[in-house]
Amino acid sequence: MAMARIRLFLEHPMGAGQTLPLGKEQAHYLFGVMRLAVGDRLPVFNGRDGEWMAEVAEAGKRAGSLVCLEQTAPLRLPPDLWLAFAPIKKERTDFIVEKAAELGAARILPVQTEFTNSGRVNRERLQAHAVEAAEQCGGTHVPDVADLAKLSDFLAACPAERQIMFCDETLAGASLPARQVLAEAGRGSWAVLIGPEGGFSEAERERLHALPQAHPVSLGPRILRADTAAVAALTLWQDVLGDWNG
Ligand code: SAM
Repeated sequence: MAMARIRLFLEHPMGAGQTLPLGKEQAHYLFGVMRLAVGDRLPVFNGRDGEWMAEVAEAGKRAGSLVCLEQTAPLRLPPDLWLAFAPIKKERTDFIVEKAAELGAARILPVQTEFTNSGRVNRERLQAHAVEAAEQCGGTHVPDVADLAKLSDFLAACPAERQIMFCDETLAGASLPARQVLAEAGRGSWAVLIGPEGGFSEAERERLHALPQAHPVSLGPRILRADTAAVAALTLWQDVLGDWNG
């Protein structure tokens, strides 16, 4: 009985003795690619019931099933942190979603700003990247990837108590250190907001600066690519207000 090196997300309730049916793709991956066989074990999770050790009960070319044996980790929710970002080129948008899942964003919301190039995102593909990132990083939670929404709609729907870490590239280096801004605003529900390659428009910047829940921050003296900025901002937030330090 080999202990597989993999970890699998399965959309199915999990509990002791629970049978987990496998679809064609999952069966191909486990039995065709990873060469698992009946009796082999692997960790599985569904984003709600924690992580479970499961055993291969049936292994076929196009189907199969696992049985949950025991819970190996409880559900661990990330902090109440959203990432709202303007989509950029496809591969880099995929990268942002993958890093946001690894860095502990609870929700990922693509927002369309005035200078956003892409007018649509493939939500299913981005959600699959979030699942893969959770499988790889040992997470038991999978962030939900929302449909693309206009920035104005995102701001209108954003609850007043959710603080916004507004990454404003025009502040580059010329404002209070972001760490101090975050610490003074304190813990609670937050959203990191990252603009597109073209940056925020003047009108967007004025609106955001006037928003009581928005905290404009600089990510240093250099202008970062949007994907770099997303990683930097999430890292900073997690270190100051998140779950990285117990
Ligand atoms: N076209 C803009 C310019 O030249 O000023 C750059 C936009 S930057 C590529 C994309 C986004 O990353 C910005 O809208 C902002 O949210 C964030 N960002 C990049 N560098 C930053 C910095 N030094 N401080 C704060 N935010 C930054």
